[in-house]
Amino acid sequence: MRTMGEQGHVGPVVIQPRSIAAAWRAKHSRGAAARYCAGATLLRLSWEEGERAPDYLIDLRQLPELQGLAWDGAACTIGAGLTLAECLRDGELSRRLPALAAAMRGVAAAGVRTLATIGGNAAGGGDLLIPLLACDAELLYYDGGEQAEALPATRAADRLGGAGGAALLCGLRVPLAALGTDRSGPLGSLWYGTDAEDARCAGARAGENTEVASAAARTGPEAAATAAATAAAVAASGLAGAADGGRGFDRYAKLGRREAFAPAQVAVALNGRLTRDGTLRELRIAAGGAGGVPQRMTEAERLARGERCDEALLRRIGEAVAEACALPDDPFAGAGYKRRAAASLVVSELWEEVCACW
Ligand SMILES: Cc1cc2nc3c(=O)[nH]c(=O)nc-3n(C[C@H](O)[C@H](O)[C@H](O)COP(=O)(O)OP(=O)(O)OC[C@H]3O[C@@H](n4cnc5c(N)ncnc54)[C@H](O)[C@@H]3O)c2cc1C
Repeated sequence: MRTMGEQGHVGPVVIQPRSIAAAWRAKHSRGAAARYCAGATLLRLSWEEGERAPDYLIDLRQLPELQGLAWDGAACTIGAGLTLAECLRDGELSRRLPALAAAMRGVAAAGVRTLATIGGNAAGGGDLLIPLLACDAELLYYDGGEQAEALPATRAADRLGGAGGAALLCGLRVPLAALGTDRSGPLGSLWYGTDAEDARCAGARAGENTEVASAAARTGPEAAATAAATAAAVAASGLAGAADGGRGFDRYAKLGRREAFAPAQVAVALNGRLTRDGTLRELRIAAGGAGGVPQRMTEAERLARGERCDEALLRRIGEAVAEACALPDDPFAGAGYKRRAAASLVVSELWEEVCACW
């Protein structure tokens, strides 16, 4: 790329640092005139939408510290510079972190995923933050000190990528304890386009008690087939007997508009543990969508803890999610619609998980 501004050329100056410390210094010294750049897929989108390109781009692609994916007994650590396509080629990641993998598969199209990085997504406030929030992940940030510091994903909004601060996202740490070892398989639902949206959110448009209406709407052949497939996968994995402490689950569902290749209108992630009799031993829920900061649904989580997941509980969980979910209006959907859609997604994902226990 050529230079702009001070030297009279067109386009930003590209800086190629050799270490994260050098990248940080380049950003820190230039402030808002410089932007970190990984796959540049989100940056390009913002320029096409009219945002002014920066004077300097700090290219992170060649930094070895941002590469690699490692498992230890306690966590999976993923370098911020890995592309979504690279992560999805790792079979262990798809098997052990199914909600995160489902969220990656739901980002844009395959061509974009070969460039887009996990760090650019999380730092730019993308969809991956939602499953990361639900599994208590940590974001590893370098901010000029001796080493990177771990920031809970619940505080990701403090440092969302932008023109301002120099903090550099080095990687993600997903604790395996929060996920359990008895995973039920690569579950996750992506709901695109008008038909799926209508089926999923018919209740949401209709008015009250929509969460259970939506879940109930999926007790037909489609839901039965999904539940049967899920139960078969659980049985095949030999994990169905983990009844004492419950069976771990990790789910992601996204409502989007395929036609526009747009990010999620609404997406939810659920992570928890369910016993054979349908008692929720643990539940973490996160919800987010385009233009909003993802949030944990703490009141819904509190209501669910230790309770049997029956229709009455699902109704209360749905109401709590609808109450807490604060996504902004956009040209295609209002905030009220998004609240009800988030509630419907959470309730139907839980319902499917309960069906898999039978
Ligand atoms: C057609 C299309 C469809 C898309 N659909 C989706 C979608 O469905 N869901 C979704 O979430 N996104 C979507 N995106 C947006 C984007 O592709 C993804 O969010 C992608 O993962 C961003 O990664 P990147 O490496 O390209 O980030 P970049 O564009 O390089 O950077 C994004 C932001 O993060 C900052 N940044 C990058 N790396 C770091 C770092 N290590 N530390 C600190 N800051 C950093 C940058 O300065 C910038 O502000 C779409 C984009 C396109 C073009």
